[in-house]
Amino acid sequence: MQRTYLRLAQPLLTDLEIPYLEICGDQDGPTLTLLGGVHGCEYTSQAAVREFFDVLDEGTLRGRVRAVPTLNVKAFYSRSPFVSPDDGKNLNRSFPGIALGTYSEQLAYAVTENLIKGSDALIDLHAGDLVEALEPFTLYEESDVTESSRALAEAYGLRYSVFQRRQGKTVAGATSATAADLGIPAIIAESGGRGIMEDDAVARHLLGLRRVTNHLDMTDFDTTEAPSVPIEHFATFHWIRSEHQGWWSPSVPVGARVHLGDTLGSVLDLLGVEQSSVVAPSDGVVLFQTSSPAVLSDGLLLGLAADVFKP
Ligand SMILES: [Zn+2]
Repeated sequence: MQRTYLRLAQPLLTDLEIPYLEICGDQDGPTLTLLGGVHGCEYTSQAAVREFFDVLDEGTLRGRVRAVPTLNVKAFYSRSPFVSPDDGKNLNRSFPGIALGTYSEQLAYAVTENLIKGSDALIDLHAGDLVEALEPFTLYEESDVTESSRALAEAYGLRYSVFQRRQGKTVAGATSATAADLGIPAIIAESGGRGIMEDDAVARHLLGLRRVTNHLDMTDFDTTEAPSVPIEHFATFHWIRSEHQGWWSPSVPVGARVHLGDTLGSVLDLLGVEQSSVVAPSDGVVLFQTSSPAVLSDGLLLGLAADVFKP
């Protein structure tokens, strides 16, 4: 087992010490790569990546697991949600990266070259960010490896799963898309949020990781303590933004099942006068929601998963 710090060659990254874990099983098998902390304030996912290495055992593991528990160390230490402090860019919109780009673009490039390439599967663990409440879900991309990516999502076992088609993507430049475009099955797995180190959110990630390594025939973990729940698959992700800056006041909790036309909340001015009412554009489930009242014009309010399908 290796517990060390990676040094990256890109010019804007030479000062970084990126925590790195790797375990090679005594028997052959696939290479699974785990990423945590692409977003620096999503703590449950980072803890889960670290703690997973406490239950892996070289003697029984078939294959290799390599992992970065806290990738965006600058965002972590500066408590910068969503974006890297150096360039204001969202690292998970910056993949596959640019060798001589900005900080986030260089970091994405280094991860693509050193950690995504050469993997047989990729799990990128996330949570709701510092000001984001979230219902656990997985996300995967349309690609030549759609079926294997979906199988990872099903193995991870979170109740909701969002399939992103190539056309009309809500989120571009993600780890999962870069991996899938390289023919590497990949998911983003989300559990936890609001900067809170909730034990159950970490446990949900850890259970997902044990199920995934079982699915890849790398381990034989007993996962019967938590029976699998049927997964609801969605093919559309509406990200709803605010027309006005002001005070965001949601009227449904995260996880709510809503119908077309339902009121999801309103944005008030700072005297309490309603500026706009936020209405559901379709039936669906609220998978994440901004938990801070402070919102700018065009600021993200919530994510509504829609268009249920049966794979
Ligand atoms: Zn994230």
